[in-house]
Amino acid sequence: MPHITIVRGDITVQRVDAIVNAANESCLGGGGVDGAIHRAAGPELLQACRRLPEQRPGVRCPTGKAVVTPGFLLPARYVIHAVGPRYHEPNAAFLLASAYWSALELAEGLGVRTIAFPAISCGAYGYPAAEAAPIAIKVCREREWCLEEIRFVLFNDETYEAFERALAGTG
Ligand code: ADP
Repeated sequence: MPHITIVRGDITVQRVDAIVNAANESCLGGGGVDGAIHRAAGPELLQACRRLPEQRPGVRCPTGKAVVTPGFLLPARYVIHAVGPRYHEPNAAFLLASAYWSALELAEGLGVRTIAFPAISCGAYGYPAAEAAPIAIKVCREREWCLEEIRFVLFNDETYEAFERALAGTG
């Protein structure tokens, strides 16, 4: 079983094989963690994202799925762009679990050993951290993922404490 760890900090500086971006369906960048990742990776990341095939007009990654690009100037070799749901969307809990699941499956296929996640959907998409964290932790424990470490990198007290509680089984 992978080691599940939580840290407070900035995902762009993590020394892991892959970092996960909380992307949107267009995969063409945005605010929050997405903007931070694009700034740190450099302009080649946006060029790589534009080259991802559209699965529907304007959609390079449907909600609940994940796609990969190189990490360019980041310490991480890969950026896995996972698209979480907006909190009030139908099936939001299922789609959030699916976004984590898809990112982990993609990482396994790439031979990734260490991966860092942000709190997907817990910013602009409005998912309460206290509800999102147990979903994320459950997916990590649901299967014997072939990874050494799954690290959650939390940017504020609310998300950090929610993941701390979920990891302890008290969330
Ligand atoms: P979403 O649209 O999926 O809600 P956001 O980027 O708005 O994505 O927010 C997701 C989470 O990422 C929020 O908890 C936000 O505070 C956090 N975040 C923002 N910048 C960073 C960063 N540099 N590293 C890690 N987490 C970040």
